[in-house]
Amino acid sequence: MIQMKDVYKKYPNGIVAANGITVDIKQGEFVYVVGPSGAGKSTFIKMMYREEKPTSGDIIINGINLAKIKSKKVPLLRRQIGVVFQDFKLLPRMNVYENVAFALEVIEESPKVIRKRVMEVLDLVGLKHKARMFPTELSGGEQQRISIARSIVNRPKLVIADEPTGNLDPDTSWEIMNIFKEINSRGTTIIMATHNKEIVNTLKHRVIAVEGGMIARDEAEGDYGYEI
Ligand code: ADP
Ligand code: ADP
Repeated sequence: MIQMKDVYKKYPNGIVAANGITVDIKQGEFVYVVGPSGAGKSTFIKMMYREEKPTSGDIIINGINLAKIKSKKVPLLRRQIGVVFQDFKLLPRMNVYENVAFALEVIEESPKVIRKRVMEVLDLVGLKHKARMFPTELSGGEQQRISIARSIVNRPKLVIADEPTGNLDPDTSWEIMNIFKEINSRGTTIIMATHNKEIVNTLKHRVIAVEGGMIARDEAEGDYGYEI
């Protein structure tokens, strides 16, 4: 589902954030991306949804070569990928329902389909009863659950999460992990950058460690491997 070959990324300031990355991730995998701050984790995953473009090398997602697609095709690619952020990025003036429905409204799904799908995903994250609340009325964990609902409402085959538990307490982080576990069990690929040692060492999955823009480790059921 994801193939990167000799991917190199140099930012305009001269920093090399990806220095020859070659990796293959299959449909249905759950992958943790770990490594020290500044190692290049975010750059690695941002290139997968074309938030950043590689300087050289190939990135193929679901058969689409990102190096070859035109800018106007990027929204089409993004619809096939759900993205979850550490700081949720919910729209503050929209309620929970509207935040989740938004992704379907832009692709002009019928109101009936939108209603059904939004309620399905809100149910999956356990927040159907808060559909009319606004993001500021929710706890951090609830906001993250809404952002996960938003990420999957288009039914993407790939969900990318950049430190999704970074702002949450341990119990809430585990609740969030259970939702990702459920989504993955339905066949969706999950790529998650994380600093959460306890989660990585307990809920075992493939671990890719990035250091200095390179893959330092790639293990089927690896450990977090750093002190913090
Ligand atoms: P991580 O997610 O592991 O903390 P990043 O991918 O964010 O690492 O950053 C890798 C390196 O690239 C760091 O040295 C960072 O300062 C640099 N970097 C990240 N984004 C940019 C940018 N937009 N412009 C310039 N340098 C950047
Ligand atoms: P948690 O401890 O799970 O992070 P909180 O203590 O922040 O949760 O919130 C508990 C409940 O109160 C949640 O269901 C949340 O929706 C509700 N809540 C939190 N803050 C507000 C607020 N400012 N207005 C309305 N409801 C709120």
